[in-house]
Amino acid sequence: MNEKCYCCNENAISREHIPPKCLFLTTRPSNMITIPSCQKHNFAKSKDDEYFIRIRGRFFDTLQRI
Ligand SMILES: [Zn+2]
Repeated sequence: MNEKCYCCNENAISREHIPPKCLFLTTRPSNMITIPSCQKHNFAKSKDDEYFIRIRGRFFDTLQRI
């Protein structure tokens, strides 16, 4: 892979889905946009995605109790 990371200028090792695949509960579009990422930012983005999913869940749980 000769692409550069979307966040820094390191060599990319994978491609990230935008928006993250984890935001789709069941089916997702087959033509999702991807961007190149290095190992560091691939891992960092995965942690951010996981955090967002957890916060989103708590937000909707709170709304249902109101
Ligand atoms: Zn990077």
